[in-house]
Amino acid sequence: MGQPRMRHRKGIALLPLGHSDYEQTLRGLAQWYELSAACSGCGRTVPVDRYEMRRRFGENKKVGTLASKLVCSGCGNRVGNKLLIGMMPRD
Ligand SMILES: [Zn+2]
Repeated sequence: MGQPRMRHRKGIALLPLGHSDYEQTLRGLAQWYELSAACSGCGRTVPVDRYEMRRRFGENKKVGTLASKLVCSGCGNRVGNKLLIGMMPRD
């Protein structure tokens, strides 16, 4: 009661890079996965809208190929960023 329902990012489980699901396309990626971008410049990790990514880059792009397209919204860095697959815990 009282608190608005929010998703808590710290509960998210990130798949390690190299996991086979990074070979999935934006279309093929399982519904329960979310994407997060990790910046190598400022260290922040922010949620990424997978449907926005799909609109911008196409549904047949593999998740593992998109990291180089990320630009950090915090510091503007575009080098060495990572795109990570995360899984929300079940309610
Ligand atoms: Zn940054």
